Amino acid sequence: MRKKSKIMATLGPASQRLEIIESLIRNGVNVFRLNFSHGDHETHHNTIQLIETAAERIGYQPAILADLQGPKIRTGKTLNDAPVFLEAGQKIKITPNPMLCTSEMISISYPHLLADLAVGNIFLLNDGAVSLKVIAKPVGKDFLECEILNSGSYSSRKGVNFPDARLRISAITEKDREDIAFILQENFHFIALSFVRQPSDLDELQQLIAPNPRKIRIIAKIEKPEAALQIDAILKKCDGIMVARGDLGVEVPLQDVPIIQKNLIQTANQQGKSVIVATQMLESMIEKPFPTRAEATDVANAILDGTDTVMLSGETAAGRYPVQTVATMRRIIEVAETSSYFPREMRNLKLEPHLPAHAMCEAAAWASQDLNYIPILVFTISGETAWYLSKIRPQAPIYAFSPDAHIVSQLALAWNIRAFHVPFEENLVKLISLAEEKLLTGNFVNPSDLVVILSGTVPLQGSTNFMRIKKIGEI
Ligand code: PEP
Repeated sequence: MRKKSKIMATLGPASQRLEIIESLIRNGVNVFRLNFSHGDHETHHNTIQLIETAAERIGYQPAILADLQGPKIRTGKTLNDAPVFLEAGQKIKITPNPMLCTSEMISISYPHLLADLAVGNIFLLNDGAVSLKVIAKPVGKDFLECEILNSGSYSSRKGVNFPDARLRISAITEKDREDIAFILQENFHFIALSFVRQPSDLDELQQLIAPNPRKIRIIAKIEKPEAALQIDAILKKCDGIMVARGDLGVEVPLQDVPIIQKNLIQTANQQGKSVIVATQMLESMIEKPFPTRAEATDVANAILDGTDTVMLSGETAAGRYPVQTVATMRRIIEVAETSSYFPREMRNLKLEPHLPAHAMCEAAAWASQDLNYIPILVFTISGETAWYLSKIRPQAPIYAFSPDAHIVSQLALAWNIRAFHVPFEENLVKLISLAEEKLLTGNFVNPSDLVVILSGTVPLQGSTNFMRIKKIGEI
């Protein structure tokens, strides 16, 4: 059985080795995430080389996503990076000045801290583990006085969230700009923008990556309440979204996260955009070789809600069982996808402008279903026809073929698509026969199997205008 939903795995110290990357791919990873909150350019470059070597050995091209740090605000360093315990009811000072952080004073990497916070503002350290309230702004001092609202600990460079303050932060930081310049030189297929607050945040990123000859698809990370509220407009400016539940669960009340997740998945699907559900999916597998029942249920429910992709973070980047985690996730997906609760209806996407290629995708998907779910072979130059077809959700296997290796890897994220690289070929009959040979060699089809072909009569971008039902091997 071939799973239809995709797995994204974050690489980090626990998994940046060739043999582990190979095992991750063999166990079901389709997309690797490189987190630019950690690691330098040299490390990321070396990791890409490892992915490419593993991909060549296995004969499967995963996609690679660069996750920009964005305007993430963090604590400074603690002594020897050790955890510092903070007790509820105690007072503590916070300052924008760099200094060693203790249980009396915390340095926070936001230069406008003193001006932008008001008495009464609540903020959270260490992904929500400790909440604090500003209680005084002493005049002429370079710190604010705060009260610790619940006991907990923090350590070096932990995330700080200010859910009820309006901060002056630009969507793309200086560090992000340097990272983007590097990302454009390397073999990345997706770029994720963190802490998107409004649709216009995506304009700058679009401009920065536009000169690049290879199209990098943009994923907007939804982790701020204002982004969740403006999701329709944000989706129009990106290729997909990530439900980034780590920061989202700190920025909004925890009980709101499941409903926001369902709404984001549904809205992305209506707009024909990719959707990834991320963070703490199998969190306990960072330490243990099996997940909790609740985590297994969370992964299955995300699939049943209609997400395209589920993501692993610390589990594969820093956990003790990266390969087992991916294998566990794959098994949960396989069972969810074969259950009676899995949505099987095709989606009636009528996106504007409704192009001939879209109408052809619908025709191919219905033809496949009418003929008892025969495979669909889609020939695509830019990948767009395959992305659209995937979002309609045909249940039969979809095989995509492109002469562009970058597009083939990118399609690894698309739900239910298995993509192959084929040489550029003007003669459609020859092209189809090359594709069929690939499928026969890989045992994806048998001779004389009936399939649907979706293509353009001329090999040009945006020219999908042709559908045929034929047997494998038939001219
Ligand atoms: C998240 O917050 O859920 C997330 C995916 O972002 P990051 O891992 O960069 O904090």
